[in-house]
Amino acid sequence: QGRTVIDLQSLVADCIAVTLQRYHLPPESIVLDPTPGAVRLYTLGISDDLRTAVLNILDNAAKYSPEGVHVRCSLAIDRYTWVALTISDTGIGLAPDQFKRIFKRFYRVQGRTVSKIKGTGLGLFLVRTIARQHGGSVTAESSGHNQGTTVTLTLPRANPATQSAF
Ligand code: ATP
Ligand code: MG
Repeated sequence: QGRTVIDLQSLVADCIAVTLQRYHLPPESIVLDPTPGAVRLYTLGISDDLRTAVLNILDNAAKYSPEGVHVRCSLAIDRYTWVALTISDTGIGLAPDQFKRIFKRFYRVQGRTVSKIKGTGLGLFLVRTIARQHGGSVTAESSGHNQGTTVTLTLPRANPATQSAF
């Protein structure tokens, strides 16, 4: 599979549209912040795989928000050569000891709320695999139970003019 230069703003916007439809959500429930100065941010990779990664993060943000979905996505330059996509929800949140574990294969947080929500525990394992295959990484954090969750996907930034990394 060939790697191409991917416009992350439009990839994320597509994934948001798919998630809104899948969960029958109004458009304002998942928003993508404009980048400062409307700068476009790119990475080099496999578009279908990155879509799968972003869709899995958005799927979690929607389904682990049983009281209502309010998701904010933003793209920013990180340390010049990286692009960070942050996806913040206002859902059930995570305890600090789960921040790393949730990326393990088949891992699901135990508890009354989560057990009512269907899943296999593979989504974030796949996200991490795809992030690493792109030379990037993914992390999760939360202020705690019912305090929402922020997932950050960091990818190498590409220069569309040279079709290569910075
Ligand atoms: P699948 O994605 O395979 O359908 P899943 O959603 O359970 O199943 P992951 O996406 O890998 O699996 O997530 C692992 C676990 O991390 C979830 O079961 C849930 O407990 C926790 N989790 C993931 N995203 C969030 C989130 N946004 N808010 C709260 N908990 C989350
Ligand atoms: Mg999931």
